Amino acid sequence: MSNDPMLRKPPKKNGANIMIMHSLKVGFSFGLTSGIITTLGLMVGLHAGTHSKLVVIGAILTIAIADAFSDALGIHISEESENQHTPKQVWVATIATFLAKFVFTLTFIIPVLLLELSEAVVISIIWGLSMLFIFSYKMASEQNENRLKVVSEHMIIAVMVILATHYLGHWIAVTFN
Ligand SMILES: [Zn+2]
Repeated sequence: MSNDPMLRKPPKKNGANIMIMHSLKVGFSFGLTSGIITTLGLMVGLHAGTHSKLVVIGAILTIAIADAFSDALGIHISEESENQHTPKQVWVATIATFLAKFVFTLTFIIPVLLLELSEAVVISIIWGLSMLFIFSYKMASEQNENRLKVVSEHMIIAVMVILATHYLGHWIAVTFN
């Protein structure tokens, strides 16, 4: 038996730390993914449909606030429904989801403020896909999963959203203008 205090970690506290890490991971991964996909979809669709900076900025701010609350509540109820978390763990996941969604969504406003709208949309697509790529690659590496499979699944879904909202936006502009 070792007397080194560093080796005598109380197992209960360690377990609690692992669960808090789980809560943070849930919130971060959900907020990041949802922030990228929802914001890119709305930006691409509204740009194609309206070509209005005002509309796109309004959409980004609305997602950053309203959709962050919506996602946080969704994660809150989802984590509660698992029935294996303490209220503290559920709340950590809830707040982490809100903050991740809020922050990642707001990053998309920077190119819109600085650039011409069509340029900003292209930069946002590159920025969003890059973040999703890096996060997916890191996650797959940590879990020893097939990186190519995990990354390509996530990228294909993101590209499908971008294409669908692009054509939907154009169709709405043509049909309802
Ligand atoms: Zn959970």
